[in-house]
Amino acid sequence: MPRPIQATIHTDALRHNMARARAAAPDARVWAVVKANAYGHGIERVFEGLRGADGFALLDLQEAERVRALGWRGPILLLEGVFELRDLELCSRLDLWHTVHCDEQIDMLASHKTNVPHRVFLKMNSGMNRLGFTPERYRSAWTRLNVLPQVDEMSLMTHFSDADGPAGVAAQMQVFQAATQDLPGERTVCNSAATLRHMGGSASDSPTLASDWVRPGIAVYGSAPDFPENSISHWDLQPAMTLSAKIIAVQAISTGASVGYGSSFVADQAMRIGVVACGYADGYPRLCPTGTPVLVDGVRTRTVGRVSMDMITVDLTPAPQAGMGSDVTLWGRAASGVVLPIDEVARTAGTVGYELMCALAQRVPVVVA
Ligand SMILES: *Cc1c(COP(=O)(O)O)cnc(C)c1O
Repeated sequence: MPRPIQATIHTDALRHNMARARAAAPDARVWAVVKANAYGHGIERVFEGLRGADGFALLDLQEAERVRALGWRGPILLLEGVFELRDLELCSRLDLWHTVHCDEQIDMLASHKTNVPHRVFLKMNSGMNRLGFTPERYRSAWTRLNVLPQVDEMSLMTHFSDADGPAGVAAQMQVFQAATQDLPGERTVCNSAATLRHMGGSASDSPTLASDWVRPGIAVYGSAPDFPENSISHWDLQPAMTLSAKIIAVQAISTGASVGYGSSFVADQAMRIGVVACGYADGYPRLCPTGTPVLVDGVRTRTVGRVSMDMITVDLTPAPQAGMGSDVTLWGRAASGVVLPIDEVARTAGTVGYELMCALAQRVPVVVA
């Protein structure tokens, strides 16, 4: 029997979350962001659930090839554009749309030989200071691209640094709009947080976010972009990934006994401890302290002691019926339907749901449900 641990990808949840993104931006087309192997879920595994998207956005050319290999003929956008000249050949061959964020990428396009002009997304650095042309240099980049025979349609793009927090998107949106108002072309500005918080008009600071395309990633996978301010139940999102395992040993310990490496947990009463077949080598964060929420047979309890490479230990006090072979949900949806959001586990480890889903280890078998 294989080691009892498994990740499940929920196709119905992906569909549901995609519908939520659409509902938040009813007039926009939706890129499903599938970079980083679909945030750790696996591009091939999420494809069925996300094929209702208008396009797929990603970074890796190999990932773009995989999406085409699945039979997708619609738009694919390279969010960081190309990295070297020969990448443009693949763009021509696979009809990939690509971001242009720097002069070097314009140079490459100018020397690229193609009969098929490319659709490009010109990126503005509107304040995040990662990728893109500054507002002052944006127009000259646009003009340079506009005269290239290698360029077909041009769209305008920026990315927000604070869509999930109190600073919001107003300042960057103002910069973007001021510098682009007389330029033609479709706009794409919104990640998940901007789509959920600022497109629906629910947030008070929302300028009108004209976004012909939105680019939700994390929300599609069922994690709240602005947790803990809001949870997935607030946004009506469902976990697209469940990480589950089973109890492979039970220890009955008495007051004063310790559990695990470093004896960091000491029992203050007699209790039963369940040993779960999941550890940091499976992608469960070692930084999760005692008290991290976990479901045993759908009942919420806590981890105790340190996370080790192949095991964690959990308090069985709230689940007296649980024992050897009981189902444990590390995050996601238990068989009973009870949900433990990945965001809650991430938070105890001082990180975000994004990192946990991306870090699901290779050794964990994955099934698509
Ligand atoms: C990753 C990414 C997104 C998606 O962000 P989420 O917070 O996961 O919704 C959107 N746009 C760009 C440019 C990205 O790199």
